[in-house]
Amino acid sequence: MFMENDRQDVAVIGAGAAGLAASIFAAEAAAREGLSLKIVLLDGAKTLGAKILVSGGGRCNVTHDVVSATDFFGNRHIIKNVLAAFPVQATIEWFASLGVDLKREETGKLFPVTDKARTVLTALVNRCYELGVAICLDHRVAEVVCLADSEGGFRIHHTHGTLSVKKVILATGGRSLPKTGSDGFGYELARRLGHQVNTPAPALTPLVLDETLFHKDLSGISQEVELTTTVQGQRVDRRTGSLLWTHFGISGPVVMDASRFWTGAHEKGEAVELCVNFLPALTQEVARQWFIEQAAEAPRRSVTKTLARLVTERFAESLCRYLGINRQTAIAQLPREDRDRLRAALTKFRLPVQQDRGWNYAEVTAGGVPLEEINFRTMESKLVPSLYLVGEILDCDGCIGGFNFQWAWATGWLAGKAL
Ligand SMILES: Cc1cc2nc3c(=O)[nH]c(=O)nc-3n(C[C@H](O)[C@H](O)[C@H](O)COP(=O)(O)OP(=O)(O)OC[C@H]3O[C@@H](n4cnc5c(N)ncnc54)[C@H](O)[C@@H]3O)c2cc1C
Repeated sequence: MFMENDRQDVAVIGAGAAGLAASIFAAEAAAREGLSLKIVLLDGAKTLGAKILVSGGGRCNVTHDVVSATDFFGNRHIIKNVLAAFPVQATIEWFASLGVDLKREETGKLFPVTDKARTVLTALVNRCYELGVAICLDHRVAEVVCLADSEGGFRIHHTHGTLSVKKVILATGGRSLPKTGSDGFGYELARRLGHQVNTPAPALTPLVLDETLFHKDLSGISQEVELTTTVQGQRVDRRTGSLLWTHFGISGPVVMDASRFWTGAHEKGEAVELCVNFLPALTQEVARQWFIEQAAEAPRRSVTKTLARLVTERFAESLCRYLGINRQTAIAQLPREDRDRLRAALTKFRLPVQQDRGWNYAEVTAGGVPLEEINFRTMESKLVPSLYLVGEILDCDGCIGGFNFQWAWATGWLAGKAL
């Protein structure tokens, strides 16, 4: 039983995915060695695992079939080493050992067979209780003081008093979805302990477009596109995937994955442009030829009916209206100048992005404590001995598809084992 004034061995701050995993792995490793390790898991939230419960649309996309460092942003050399230490197969087996079988979907995403995030949370929490981890909710940590006395360790100031521990695992997450408790204060705790924090920016977030664009008319429609992000005139990202038009702008996997480049540049005040190619399967030259062939093959077919062979008719209509081109015009009658404008808009359309949707909609945080300040074999801080950092607080963000949880499990495993 956890007593507030007991001296504990380990305090894990943050009972999200990474904190729960680290607690379990630490307790299991100690049990294997026949050691008794007193672990206390502190979380400021009043209820457990809010973010796990909302993840993956309430189904929790636990990991991905194939995970590599290229699915992440940050120091890829370090990320690669962390991922190699706890690969996907280890995640699958670990969850099976907790009674959670995973299934693979066509996209490569892995979900619990129950399709319920609650299954994942319950399994993690039950395992903590089985192992004797003391979980203290409503215990928000305000300060972690590194003790310089002969015993070393840390003093933790939280909502209900103080606690002395030998080791600390900081698992406070980032700033995404602050109402779950991850409001970025963990960065301040890390900073006060001497760590740097690379400027956090929302990632995996939808983007808001200038309301004069046609996105509202297309709300709910998805299409395959190629999205290119240019910062200060340099291309920083190019990816293909599904773009979803919404009432406020754009979303969908390709937008979410690219958003970190837009938000990062915007945060730094750099000039950033997002361009879409709505015909990702065609090169410029093939697209040009295609228009000429269509005019020859079916000269009286309207512009929108012609375009509907490549994109949805609704999108074709909206684009024509936006460009001031009469959609009923027969394709062969379309002036060359309009044909060129149409082709240019279809293959290189500059999106008028106004802002991202902010922390309440971002699924993850780009930026955080630099990975170079961590020993990637143990997740121990290189600056503060006996302090470990795991999960989203670190400067590593993954693409959509289960990668961010894989990072949480892998870093949790490394820290737990090292303890
Ligand atoms: C809507 C949404 C859907 C998502 N879906 C997926 C998905 O399907 N697959 C995937 O891989 N990723 C998904 N993610 C991302 C994933 O949830 C996170 O990357 C992951 O949860 C990070 O885990 P963490 O333990 O590092 O941080 P968090 O889960 O954010 O946990 C941090 C914990 O620390 C606590 N805390 C913070 N500060 C303090 C303090 N000062 N004192 C005490 N406690 C504190 C918080 O209350 C919180 O419980 C999603 C994210 C969101 C927002």
